[in-house]
Amino acid sequence: MAKGELQKREVVQKVGFCKYCGQIVMVEAPEELPPEELNELASQQCNCDEAKRQQRRIARMGAAAIWAENYFSRESGQLQAVCCAIKAVFEYAFDNITIKSGKKTYKIDMDKDGMIRIRTKYTDNEIETF
Ligand SMILES: [Zn+2]
Repeated sequence: MAKGELQKREVVQKVGFCKYCGQIVMVEAPEELPPEELNELASQQCNCDEAKRQQRRIARMGAAAIWAENYFSRESGQLQAVCCAIKAVFEYAFDNITIKSGKKTYKIDMDKDGMIRIRTKYTDNEIETF
């Protein structure tokens, strides 16, 4: 029976603490989940302002990663480097990061609303040397 199969993955109601507001949050988690991961889950599901802000930030980070997947190749290692750069700016490790690839320059930073901003500049300089 399909329904019975699904219920084999045992999740139980557990108590975690939101790391932003300290509030107790009930979460569904596997029985053996360690407390720190339980608190992480609780923080993701809490409805305090800071938790919501973090949830939006994580969603934006995901959107930026999807954007990068469409523009950079995984095979050449470009995608991984760009994702690292986005993450570093996102986590305030750097104010901005500039990446050059051929005629394109990508500047990754954050705007005043905390949105990840990626500006692409295409430079086509015609230079003749003889
Ligand atoms: Zn909270």
